[in-house]
Amino acid sequence: MLAFDFHMHTGASPDSRTSPEELANAALAAGLTHIAITDHYEAPPADPNLFPDKNPRWLAAAADRYREVEANSQKNIAAVQALTAGKLSVAMGMELGNPLEDLPRTEELIAAHDFDFLLASQHTNPGGPDFYFLQRFPELDLMAEMDIYFGELLKIVEWGNFSSLAHLTYPFRYFPADKRPTDTRRWDEIINRIFRLLAEKGLALEINTSGLRKEIGEVSPALPLIRRFRELGGELITVGSDAHTPADVGAGIATAVELAEAAGFRYITRYEKRKPIPEKIK
Ligand SMILES: [Zn+2]
Ligand SMILES: [Zn+2]
Repeated sequence: MLAFDFHMHTGASPDSRTSPEELANAALAAGLTHIAITDHYEAPPADPNLFPDKNPRWLAAAADRYREVEANSQKNIAAVQALTAGKLSVAMGMELGNPLEDLPRTEELIAAHDFDFLLASQHTNPGGPDFYFLQRFPELDLMAEMDIYFGELLKIVEWGNFSSLAHLTYPFRYFPADKRPTDTRRWDEIINRIFRLLAEKGLALEINTSGLRKEIGEVSPALPLIRRFRELGGELITVGSDAHTPADVGAGIATAVELAEAAGFRYITRYEKRKPIPEKIK
């Protein structure tokens, strides 16, 4: 069984406190062989009121245009690499959140480091709050927000300077259960365009397992969409726990690999210096 986890955060991310020692120990204890560390790099939002919990760490990161996040993440990755040398392969990654919001800064970050692996994700709609806080903004029309969200994802894939598209159905995690759509039919056309373009550009789709630990109880995206990505020509799949704590490192990965296989994939892809290296599932 492949023991990979290509999405996790250290204390360099404003929403994690995990130290390099804790991360290294957790990855080894989980029996992982390959990980990627992917701290949050996000263009700061113009309006701090979009962080309703006023987490001072997010506000400080935004004020400093994420330069400290960038430096601390590099430091933490090097520390985990040193602590696990010879036992674990640790890819230098980053999660590029809302990468188009400040594209020059995003491109500057990418050019400044010898990254192995880059996740791209959209955590907010332009001018809106992080979907994480969705329940605090009851006036939002959730269906219309999702229309905008998938439109933004398509633009990210058109840009394409990343390795894998993270948690495709991220906002659904934060929908009130009674408002969550039971299927994605409304967005079929745009999701198909996203999938075809990922396939054409040789980009990967992530199976993100964090939803298994939440009320929604499923990976993102769920099996029908993973299968559809395969049907539309997708070949590259990455897996990630999105761990923000040591306890979650490696969580749900076996399930993600099984789902990839059930959807018709024979390989999970890891990355070195941004080159995909497919590894056979069995
Ligand atoms: Zn994310
Ligand atoms: Zn993440």
